[in-house]
Amino acid sequence: MNQVAKVIVDVPAMQVDRPFDYVVPENLVGIALVGTRVSVPFGNRKVQGFVVELGEVEDVTKLKTIDSVMDVLPVLNEELLELGDFLAKETLAFRVSVYQAMLPAALRAKYEKYVVRLDTEDDELERLFEGYETLPFKELVGRNILKSVQKYVRSGQVEIAYAVKNKVTNKKMRVVTCPLTPNQLHDAQLDLPKNAKAQAKLLAYFETTEEDFVPLKQLREELGVSGQAIQKLVDNGMLQFAEKKVNRDPYAGREFERTEPLALSKEQQAANDEILLAAKEGRPETFLLHGVTGSGKTEIYLQSIAEVLQKGKEAIVLVPEISLTPQMVERFKSRFGDAVAVLHSALSHGEKYDEWRKIERKEAQVVVGARSAIFAPFENLGLIIIDEEHEATYKQEDNPRYHARDVAIWRAKRHHCPVVLGSATPSLESYARATKNVYKLLELKARINQQEMPEVHIIDMREELRSENRTEFSRTLLEKIKERLERNEQTVLLLNKRGYASFVMCRDCGYVVECPNCDISLTYHQATRKMKCHYCGHEERVPEKCPSCESEHIRYFGTGTQKVEESLAKLIPEARVIRMDVDTTRQKGAHEKLLTRFQNGEADILLGTQMIAKGLDFPNITLVGVLNADTMLFLPDFRSAERTFQLLTQVSGRAGRHVLPGEVVVQSYSPEHYSIEYAKMHDYHGFYKHEMLMRHKGAYPPFYFLTLINVSHEEERKVIQTIQDMASFLRTKLGPDSIILGPVPSTISRIKNKYRYQCMIKYKKEPTLKNELKSLLEHYQKEQAKGLTISIDVEPYVLM
Ligand code: ADP
Ligand code: ZN
Ligand code: ZN
Repeated sequence: MNQVAKVIVDVPAMQVDRPFDYVVPENLVGIALVGTRVSVPFGNRKVQGFVVELGEVEDVTKLKTIDSVMDVLPVLNEELLELGDFLAKETLAFRVSVYQAMLPAALRAKYEKYVVRLDTEDDELERLFEGYETLPFKELVGRNILKSVQKYVRSGQVEIAYAVKNKVTNKKMRVVTCPLTPNQLHDAQLDLPKNAKAQAKLLAYFETTEEDFVPLKQLREELGVSGQAIQKLVDNGMLQFAEKKVNRDPYAGREFERTEPLALSKEQQAANDEILLAAKEGRPETFLLHGVTGSGKTEIYLQSIAEVLQKGKEAIVLVPEISLTPQMVERFKSRFGDAVAVLHSALSHGEKYDEWRKIERKEAQVVVGARSAIFAPFENLGLIIIDEEHEATYKQEDNPRYHARDVAIWRAKRHHCPVVLGSATPSLESYARATKNVYKLLELKARINQQEMPEVHIIDMREELRSENRTEFSRTLLEKIKERLERNEQTVLLLNKRGYASFVMCRDCGYVVECPNCDISLTYHQATRKMKCHYCGHEERVPEKCPSCESEHIRYFGTGTQKVEESLAKLIPEARVIRMDVDTTRQKGAHEKLLTRFQNGEADILLGTQMIAKGLDFPNITLVGVLNADTMLFLPDFRSAERTFQLLTQVSGRAGRHVLPGEVVVQSYSPEHYSIEYAKMHDYHGFYKHEMLMRHKGAYPPFYFLTLINVSHEEERKVIQTIQDMASFLRTKLGPDSIILGPVPSTISRIKNKYRYQCMIKYKKEPTLKNELKSLLEHYQKEQAKGLTISIDVEPYVLM
């Protein structure tokens, strides 16, 4: 009998999106396990693949053989492989794309792989490594010592490391250790010559420290001793040098003061009890925790996680990328210490890999992270939390287009554990599910300590224009900012950039400068004084004359944070302003630094984009101003009212969270819009009812499901032909209650010289739709290889 592996090859194409059989050669039996990556001959080349199943056959004459392995232990466990299959079906993605999406980027092919010896005592290891500390992975394969090394990886004596080109990722640190017994150490001190003060200090230190290895640097700094003194003791055999691998923990060296659980309010307690009961009974229930801003949701997360950890289980907490602030991380680290791994995009690939390894090695039991942290390789999950569940960032916008919420619910079923979706402004979809008892609703109606919700003033900016005020600031807002300055309180100003860019327009004829390749206006960049296309990168200078009417009054419109900062400096010169936007936070750690400065009272005003709407919790903020509330309202997107309501609610929640009462000023050109009015009244339920009526009228979610098909190609005729054919095909297949809108040109009708058309399918129940769509993709396979792009987005969040 011969062992045969079923392998999903890394060739993202429809016709090979299925397992292929390969013989497992004798030397790889036990190594090429399910979930490991292998290299296999495919056609006339070698490709990577994932082993998804093992079996035995007698006759292998027709089969090719696995060439080598990329891992000594599986990188995907059975659960994740199964989840991958589920997601591939649900999102119409290739299995291999889903598997890749679940792994940290460092594990991908352009990284070199090393084996690092952690244990320097073991004789067999010494022999295997021939005295070296690290070996290239290739050498294990070449010398056929995979199996021996596998054993050591399992026991933690050897580790796999990834590096870009030649840089070994794991940093090493020179450490000092003392080989003497306590008695010897005591005697050694007595034997020292009297003038050897530094050496005495060192030995005394090692007598009391509980650390086995003390970093050299730390010794020198803390004790103020010279390297010479240490070297002397090393020469006399009283101390030893060693090298220790350190994980690149981005929070290393930061002391987190331990926090204790707070006494929960009645509402908090009730919610916490429900969650923990489900956890205890192993019920995979999904809870929707709807609590106003500042009602103590995070404290509930912390306490329910604590209970789950106590039972020896693990927890995943998802947080939107932009709220994954140091403040947020700190709350978890302060409660759970080193049990917390953090995964977010600000980390380098190497750092992310280290955090992922902490989970794999079971050193971390809690992961706090952005969307992809939902794939954390935990094996004993007790709770999954998705904070700010309404955020669109939980949906991945390219293949595989998965939604983290669906993944969470799938994993929860598998692990028999609850899911908590938390938000002050739940998505309409989730709230509707809660009203139908698909999710269980938990509500926190009051802020902690009965803190009042801030008063919200809506300012009609059209009135300001009529009164000849052409600045970005209404008179009310200016006045209130000045009041804050006098009282030494702080203000947060939000400039809503979504759906709103600075473009160059002719004041005389209205000509707008557009990209020559994409049908979209170019965005003006103050720093370079150039215009840039955000889709294809095309760049050009601002024309001196209008290309259309030759007027010289062509200039940029729209408001950038920088421009607002300048006007602010003119209007209130005495105010100290911190600006926070993509430009000022590009550097690593900049975000945190700016916030700390603001927290320390080094500025009166924090001016920023969406990134300041969340997570800020400073007691001295008593005024929040929204400069332009309604720019999103006019986007061609059925969720624009919902997003406006959510943003205003979130940002209002930043004011008056502590002792001082808060106030909010919202400036708008459409103050009568219901999303703004309900936000003013802090009335989620009112907004929900109104918006549900609108969705019902428009046949949108949550009343209908959506699937968006987008076709693009350089030849417009071909695009139109293809998408019309697709729509006609689907019309013959779908039931009478389903609606197909379009085809129509997409909102951005051309990108990188490719024309784009779309059609939208609205349906309540179409059990065969995915199969029909799949057969369409298969039908156009050849065309797709020749430059036709078909993208299918199930439950889309971006409609342009
Ligand atoms: P949310 O996540 O709903 O916005 P938080 O959990 O951040 O709310 O709580 C808001 C503030 O109230 C925080 O400063 C938090 O420390 C505090 N807090 C939360 N729960 C309690 C409690 N039971 N007792 C006292 N303070 C609390
Ligand atoms: Zn003009
Ligand atoms: Zn362009």
